[in-house]
Amino acid sequence: MYSAAAMSAEIIDGKSIAEQVRGEVAEEVAAWVAAGHEPPGLATVLVGEDPASAVYVGGKQKATKEVGMRGFDHRLVADTAQHDVAALLRDLNADARVSGILLQLPTPGHIDGNGLTWLIDPAKDVDGLTPVSAGLLAKGRPGLRPCTPAGCMELLDRHGVVLEGAEAVVIGRSELVGKPVAQMLLARNATVTVCHSRTRDLPEVCRRADVLIAAVGRARMVRGDWVKEGATVIDVGINRVDEGLVGDVDFAAASERAARITPVPRGVGPMTIAMLLQNTLAAATAQAGAP
Ligand code: NAP
Repeated sequence: MYSAAAMSAEIIDGKSIAEQVRGEVAEEVAAWVAAGHEPPGLATVLVGEDPASAVYVGGKQKATKEVGMRGFDHRLVADTAQHDVAALLRDLNADARVSGILLQLPTPGHIDGNGLTWLIDPAKDVDGLTPVSAGLLAKGRPGLRPCTPAGCMELLDRHGVVLEGAEAVVIGRSELVGKPVAQMLLARNATVTVCHSRTRDLPEVCRRADVLIAAVGRARMVRGDWVKEGATVIDVGINRVDEGLVGDVDFAAASERAARITPVPRGVGPMTIAMLLQNTLAAATAQAGAP
């Protein structure tokens, strides 16, 4: 049992930080348009009727319009041929009104969604998932970064967490989260350890972490005693259990040892759309030749 009184960690409120980021993007978009530019445009492509994906895409489109950008909402029936999706992506690459393109994954089984992502013009790759964007990140060059890992970094920065020289442990090595967030931490001069399903003595490795990032997809796997006293814990996991949504970290137990921690929900989750908007604005300004 953990009472609220026993908790010491500061809560990293992703929902309110995401609102701040969205507000800042809205101001920058207004200034961009006032300076005589076209508003940035985000095109989303959803193939099929998966209800969760439809909710995600709907949320992205709504947020796009709220910050004064144009939204292009492309919904294709589930049995759309791969070459037709490819043709749409090529059209969007060529459309000057479209600053950013997002192909919602996963796609239906007959379509190679990851392969199609590679067709997106890297200048419009606001999801940061093309090989060019991954290569720029690996080489430490400026580029469009994947949204969820970028959201983790934003949370750390807005809480003033010192990364230089810090021991950072990332659990998970996916292309979407673990690997890119590890590279971003490395670029900020953290000492980074990346763990995965074959890591030996995971609890002991985690106990070294000044910054612990969990991106696994296993409910409450990270126990309280895996967390170093005073650590910052970022929980990317979203797991549905009987009580609702929980993260990869045992929040109550970890809160007794961590200095700062993200909750689930209202932690990393809301940051993803905020960073997508930030990427779309950055893509639009870069395409217009602005620094
Ligand atoms: P993923 O592709 O399934 O990757 C999971 C990673 O966890 C893999 O690298 C895997 O290791 C590792 N892993 C699995 N079991 C492990 C264990 N027992 N010990 C140590 N490592 C283990 O998942 P993902 O896409 O990165 O997503 C991770 C979580 O974040 C999910 O809950 C997802 O829903 C959530 N998520 C949230 C957002 C958001 O908030 N907006 C966005 C994306 C993802 P191997 O490589 O060895 O298999």
